Amino acid sequence: MTKVVKFGGSSLASAEQFKKVKEIITAEDSRRFVVPSAPGKRFPTDIKVTDMLYGCYDLAVKGMDFTDQFNAIKERFYSIIKELGLDLSLEKEFEVIKACFIGKAGRDYAASRGEYLNSIVLANYLGYNFIDAADVIFFNDQGQFDSKKTKKVLSARLETLDNAVVPGFYGSMPNDTIKTFSRGGSDVTGSIVASAVNADLYENWTDVSGFLTCDPRIIKNPAPITTITYRELRELSYMGATVLHEDAIFPVRKAGIPINIRNTNKPEDPGTMIVESTSQKPKYTITGIAGKKGFTVVNIEKAMMNAEVGFGRKVLEVFEKNGICFEHTPSGIDTMSVVVHQAEFADKEQEILAGLHRNCHPDSIEIETDLALIAVVGRAMKSNRGTAGRIFSALAHAHVNVKMIDQGSSELNIIIGVSEEDFEAANKAIYDIFVETKL
Ligand code: ADP
Ligand code: ASP
Ligand code: MG
Repeated sequence: MTKVVKFGGSSLASAEQFKKVKEIITAEDSRRFVVPSAPGKRFPTDIKVTDMLYGCYDLAVKGMDFTDQFNAIKERFYSIIKELGLDLSLEKEFEVIKACFIGKAGRDYAASRGEYLNSIVLANYLGYNFIDAADVIFFNDQGQFDSKKTKKVLSARLETLDNAVVPGFYGSMPNDTIKTFSRGGSDVTGSIVASAVNADLYENWTDVSGFLTCDPRIIKNPAPITTITYRELRELSYMGATVLHEDAIFPVRKAGIPINIRNTNKPEDPGTMIVESTSQKPKYTITGIAGKKGFTVVNIEKAMMNAEVGFGRKVLEVFEKNGICFEHTPSGIDTMSVVVHQAEFADKEQEILAGLHRNCHPDSIEIETDLALIAVVGRAMKSNRGTAGRIFSALAHAHVNVKMIDQGSSELNIIIGVSEEDFEAANKAIYDIFVETKL
């Protein structure tokens, strides 16, 4: 049996956390391949090493002195090395990194050093082999992950080893520069390594006891999810359940490898199993709730638009030409709404309005900002009558005004748009009705 184990930033934030990680790894011989993140927060107001690196590099690029910030990063690693009593010096590494900062080696290079250094420390502490991700994880010229080349090189490299520590978050471009995945991307590396060694299980160790039915920052101690499908998870992680990077399922899904989310601080908890499909009935009608703030809706009104062939295409073409992705497009007989990310839309607002007028000749266009979207997700919703009704009566009781509804054709999710100020209340109302009162 072979397991790939990924440990997140908070799991490796201090020497104390490193000790827990070693205990977990040595508890089973199968835990042979390890993917660490950079040291994360030790306490709520602490700064992640990744963010310290970004900050430090930004100073370097401006030609400003970054000695203090650089020393603070060194100190994070040295305190771990010292407290673990390791015979390891990172002085040479730090010299190279400093020179590369001055030489402006890139923001991605800078950010990746957290995972790189932490992996050297962890490999030394475990007595495992260290493999630099730059030698085994590849991106193509367009900056997209090159799965074919990676699989070939990474599989061949790991096949010869009993164990290895492979840093998360980054790889290399064809021109040998370093590139990272988006934030939280060590989860993706873990999945790639699991697929490369054809692991039996990909364990993702974090600071919560699995995927929870709601964001624990909104609901205190939400119920954990025992089993969730890849599709349900993707809907939830895309909508803000950040416990696992939304792209982390692709490599393992292809290979049929399940993911187990576990808690480094409570290793006895079984956590959440993420699987292709399951006959296991979820405990509640819904599997989970997740949501995000920061959306804008563009409402386009035109009499008889339903009879105008190609109207939807003409609307979306304007967004496409301006490089804006749309999230949802709820529509009525004479109206069509396009939901977009507020931050992306704001820069292109006037170009898009002008384009819509030119392309679609609407009667009116209205823009509504500060919208939050909430996804209610569950494979059991399909077979339970009245789910939508229960959601809306719960929201009405909580005095939440629903601004938009979109039910996916797979009946796996219902998306609800509410004002940002109603976001927390809406989450609570939906959680209460399905989980607390088990309706
Ligand atoms: P790591 O550093 O281990 O990768 P992350 O911070 O990326 O951990 O993800 C874990 C965090 O995700 C939790 O501490 C929690 O605050 C947050 N989170 C948001 N939504 C959920 C959810 N539905 N279930 C569990 N955790 C969630
Ligand atoms: N350290 C990176 C981040 O903070 C990657 C990760 O933790 O997964 O985003
Ligand atoms: Mg994470």
